This record gives sequence, C-alpha cells and structure tokens, in this order.
Amino acid sequence: MPDKFHDECGVVAIYGHPEASNLSYLGLYALQHRGQESAGICSSDGRQIHCHKSMGHVAEIFTPEVLGRLPGDHAIGHTRYSTAGDTVLLNAQPFSVACNKGKIAVAHNGNIINAGELRRELEREGSIFQGSSDTEVILHLVARSRERTLVGALREALLQLEGAFSLVFLAEDRIIVARDPHGFRPLAFGQMELSGGRICYVFASETCAFDLINAVYLGEVEPGEMMIAGPEGITRERYAPIRDHAHCVFEHVYFSRPDSIVFGRSVEESRELMGRLLAREHPVDADVVVPVPDSGVAAALGYAAEADIPFRQALIRNHYVGRTFIEPSQAIRDFGVKLKLNPVRHLLEGKRVILVDDSVVRGTTSRKIVRMVRNAGAREVHLRISCPPTKSPCFYGVDTPSVGELIAANNSVEEIRRFVEADSLGYLSLSALRDAVNDSRQDYCYACYTGNYPTDLIHIEELMAAKDRRG
Ligand code: AMP
Repeated sequence: MPDKFHDECGVVAIYGHPEASNLSYLGLYALQHRGQESAGICSSDGRQIHCHKSMGHVAEIFTPEVLGRLPGDHAIGHTRYSTAGDTVLLNAQPFSVACNKGKIAVAHNGNIINAGELRRELEREGSIFQGSSDTEVILHLVARSRERTLVGALREALLQLEGAFSLVFLAEDRIIVARDPHGFRPLAFGQMELSGGRICYVFASETCAFDLINAVYLGEVEPGEMMIAGPEGITRERYAPIRDHAHCVFEHVYFSRPDSIVFGRSVEESRELMGRLLAREHPVDADVVVPVPDSGVAAALGYAAEADIPFRQALIRNHYVGRTFIEPSQAIRDFGVKLKLNPVRHLLEGKRVILVDDSVVRGTTSRKIVRMVRNAGAREVHLRISCPPTKSPCFYGVDTPSVGELIAANNSVEEIRRFVEADSLGYLSLSALRDAVNDSRQDYCYACYTGNYPTDLIHIEELMAAKDRRG
C-alpha cells in the first residue's frame, strides 16, 4: 500500500526546443508554489534519457552545471510537496525506466486511489517496486502491457487507474500527456513558434509557467484525453469514456496562482468574486478589511470593494522563510506564525477588523493570526473565509489531514469561532462558491466541503488509514 500521496505537485513538459531542460526549469520555477520538497527534470536527446532530481527548491537544485547535464529537445519536470518522512528522495519525480517499450520517464500530479490494489496485484505477479509511490504502478502497468506500442500500452494502463492524475511522459522522441476522465487536476497546453516556423509544444499544471517562457496558452488537455507531441506533430485522442467532470475547486480557492488560468478560468477572477459574495453573505460593520497574505489577498480585495470598506495590508509576510531556520532555544509564543507574518500596528490599533483568509483546516494557524491582530490593538476581529467549512479529507491530491484533525468535521461554526477567538466568523456558502467559479454545468468537485466523492471509494478505509499515518 503506498503510504505517500502525490499531494500538491506541479508538472511541465516541453517538446521540440533545443533548450528543453532550461525551459522546464523556468516552468518549474513558476510552479514552485505547487510543491517545495523536491524537484526533478528528465530530458531526452533522442537516444538517451537524462535525469536529475533532488530535495529542495527548484532554483537551488538546477544550477547551470546541472542543467548542462540535461541535453536534448524534449523534457519533463516535476515539483513536489509531501509530508512523507525520510525516503522522500526515492519518491521524488520524474521516474524513469528502460523497458520493452523503450526508455520512458513520467511525472504525475494527483493521487491514484486504487494504487494499493494494483500494486498488490503486480507484486503477486512478480513486479518489484523501488519506492512507495503510486506513480511507479503506472510504469509497471506500461512495462507489462502486451500492447506493442508505447501509446497502446499507456492507453491500457490509464484505463486501469482510478482517481486523479495529470501525467506527463517522456519517451526518446516524444512527449505524451494525459488527464484522468474526471479532470480533477489541471493540465494546460500551449506552444511557441521557433525560428524557421518550427513549433515547440508545452504543457504545464498552470499557465503562469507559460507566461515566463513566452508560450501561448491554447487550452486544456481535456479530461479523459491523451495528447501526443512527436515528429509527426501533435495528435489528440480520447482514451477513456466520457465521465462527469470533477475539477478541484480548491485550485481556485487556494492552490493555484491568481495569475493562472485554471480549468479555462482566471483564478484571480474567481477569488475576487468569492470575496464579493462573502461580503454579501456575511456583512459586518468594520473599519478595515485585512487579508491573510498571500492566500487571502484577492478575496479580501473583492470583499473590500463590495462592502466599500478600506483594504489595508496590515499583515506583512516574510517571503524568504526557508525550510530550515534556527529556532530560539527558549520557547517564544507563536514563533512559527511570527516568523511568517508581522502586524502593522498603526493600521490595526483601535480598529474593527475584517480578516479574510481562504480556508480553515485545523484552525490552529487561524487562531494564532486572530490573536496576533488582537494583540496589535484591534478592537474587534471578524474572520471571513472564502470557501465553505472543510469537512472531509481529499483523496485526489490535496494535502488535507484526517477527519479527526479537520476542525469543521467535528465542530459547528460557532464552536470554531470560539476556538479561533474571533468576534464573528463567516464562511462562503457552497452555492456562492459555485457561482464564483462559474460552475453552471456542475463541472467541479466539492468533496472537501460536502463529503460527496465523485468516484467510488471502495478502499476508503485504506485511504483514511494512509491519511492517519501521515498525521
Ligand atoms: P489552520 O488555521 O491551521 O487550519 O490553517 C489555515 C491556513 O492554512 C490558511 O491560511 C490556508 O491558506 C492554509 N492552507 C489551507 N489548505 C492548505 C494546504 N493544503 N496546504 C498548505 N496550506 C493550506
């Protein structure tokens, strides 16, 4: 049973550019917010696949010297966040293998919910796994397929997977990408024109990666679709029957960058509308609207505009908080939050404050921030959250804790208000969230708010246990 989920990852793929690994590096740099634990790039020079992956941030890992060892016109990249323990490098991506279908590498965003079952079957039949990642399962399925071509084997493998996957594959002479039939996680495609009229095809989790490399966004890889970029150009095929779409709404609430287009919609536009609708649903007399940076900024702007209350950046974030820092030897109260955020006292003193954030998960950070604002002199603190209460864990690639730790799974809004010590607490309603992402066709997944999972969860106990183990 894989004990690690491929939470919160970013993927990128480049076909047909002499600086493919450099462009992958830039793409990953723009996708750094999707995962900060490890990153990797594999490139192909037409004969060999070259890989480098390591723990840490993209800019630290990929020095000019490392990128120089990743030659070729095609490349894929991955950046990963995981709460897993010490074997993380083993599970860092991309994965690469040489098998009877040639040399291939793969990078994955999402979580395959039947990976445990598939893995047990494969192991019974003699497959040997290196790490505990569910992505390795895909490579074994491809290698074992009786189909003669890589595309045929991939099609067969993908049809056995359940759950969330946006996948990018690198073969010696092509890039193949695929998205699960529900379209849980995003995957955009675009192109760049090179000299001589040649076209370079690019794929990425979010369009902010295209902006950095001057690629033109052309659209989404459709749910249940496979796209192949090769010497013959680009081809698209539907490999799976049409299913109900289930785009992760949390990408728009929190996860994606506001300058990205995700699922064909501007994230900034969604967030600002969430804030406006929040102001209509939960108005309160106050002096200032203050965002929790960075996640609450766009919604706070919407709230302030709708309520006609001044917007003030009264919490300042230190953007350079690294993964390691020297902790004080004596306990300093709320040290972790202080390291990240500091209040601007004169903007808060004596004020009635509306504090806007995107979500409450465990409630512990929110409580520290409410206290911080109050200690800086605020007379009242009204917490406004730009999504509904998070009640159910995600099995499709967002790192939410187990039910026991989700404060809204076990407490009423009033109990949460008391826990976070706010004067009032208001969450955006589900119907307003739907409106904010313009979901008139019911294309989104709201399982973290409703507990209605869009796939069968026959292994739900196993999945829950895995969440528990991770703590
Ligand atoms: P807490 O009050 O401890 O539940 O923390 C809430 C904060 O966590 C909010 O500021 C959110 O922006 C942030 N947050 C929510 N979901 C996630 C996630 N999956 N990964 C990292 N941070 C998150």
